[in-house]
Amino acid sequence: MKALGPIPAGYEAIDGVLAVAGRPVTEWVEEAGETPLFLYSADLIRARVAQLRAAMPEQLALHYAVKANPFGPVLELFSGLVDGFDIASGGELALVQAAGIASARVSFAGPGKRDRELEAAIAAGVTLNLESEAEAWRAIAIAETLGMTPRLAIRVNPSFDLKGSGMKMGGGAKQFGIDAERVPALAREIVAAGAEWRGFHIFAGSQALDASAIADTQAQAIALAAQLAQESGIAVPHCNLGGGMGIPYFPGDMPVDVTLVGERLAEQFAALPDELRETEFCMELGRYLVGEAGVYVTRIVDRKVSHGEVFLVTDGGLHHQLAASGNFGTVVRRNYPVAIATRYGAEVEEEASVVGCLCTPLDRLADKAGFPQADVGDLVAVFCAGAYGASASPSAFLGQGAAVELLV
Ligand SMILES: *Cc1c(COP(=O)(O)O)cnc(C)c1O
Repeated sequence: MKALGPIPAGYEAIDGVLAVAGRPVTEWVEEAGETPLFLYSADLIRARVAQLRAAMPEQLALHYAVKANPFGPVLELFSGLVDGFDIASGGELALVQAAGIASARVSFAGPGKRDRELEAAIAAGVTLNLESEAEAWRAIAIAETLGMTPRLAIRVNPSFDLKGSGMKMGGGAKQFGIDAERVPALAREIVAAGAEWRGFHIFAGSQALDASAIADTQAQAIALAAQLAQESGIAVPHCNLGGGMGIPYFPGDMPVDVTLVGERLAEQFAALPDELRETEFCMELGRYLVGEAGVYVTRIVDRKVSHGEVFLVTDGGLHHQLAASGNFGTVVRRNYPVAIATRYGAEVEEEASVVGCLCTPLDRLADKAGFPQADVGDLVAVFCAGAYGASASPSAFLGQGAAVELLV
């Protein structure tokens, strides 16, 4: 039997059924009218932000990385909880605008920004985190045509990466950011061109669980920002330290010790070099803020046995849960936290695989794991579904379409 990932804190059973936001998932399914269904708990999101704020130095601003979960009601909730929003496309700009989020709170990173995306962002007053020199010249030219002053920051490709991170976004040759040694010259040219200089964005990796590795990376980012400020002779109004804090998805994963990260960052802030005394710092986080607040609920439509192995066939699958199927940035497939939601907390009775309804062997939500005996009609819950689920899965595959999403 293969182990399942750890179920996040904050979930309980009501009469043997998994509850989200105080109500059994069966009621939410009834309300939604169908499965599969994503449920996002507003209380769990609020609690996560509050817990993080309590651990971090007060002067650290928190940004939400929209790509983790761009569902409108989730963005509206975050509008009252975090300081800023990081977007990575013109489409995400439209989503934050639709959620009523002021553009002055938004920064736009990401390679390959098209002219019309730059234009929309500059016109709205969004800060651009520039990914190349060529992008800087295009932005400045577009701003001139618009008669606007662009707000420009440089995304730095640091020479270090975040140790133990699931996705490395810095160190060596990368499509992200501008190599650190070329940054001071560009910063001077941006200021000379009359742009509003916003500082640096230094993002070294994502999905790390090791607090001391995260703290080391933040210290390196602060040292790099100071060095770049000194070399360019230009002050740094704002410095985005990146994110990197991950969540436990797999058996044996432990949550990030955010208290340690906060203490180490407070030490850094207490000993800032002169160049950074006036700098505002922020962290940008996606999955850490929403991942564990989401559950994907799907219904068992068939139960079959093949060569002695039990398969629970659901009406969901990788078209909504690419990451849980093991096909989004993982090398070795391991099980996410998955449970039979309508027999929540019941004893393990058998080994079974939970599969989806797609015609591909990749469509597996849990592999040879232990479950209470489940039948057609039972609901399955996939946890850690709040980030990179609905928006990062190929919902058009096999004509399936999107799942319902509810913020509850
Ligand atoms: C994807 C991304 C994030 C969010 O990453 P998480 O692992 O969800 O926290 C933050 N910043 C940038 C620049 C990104 O590309």
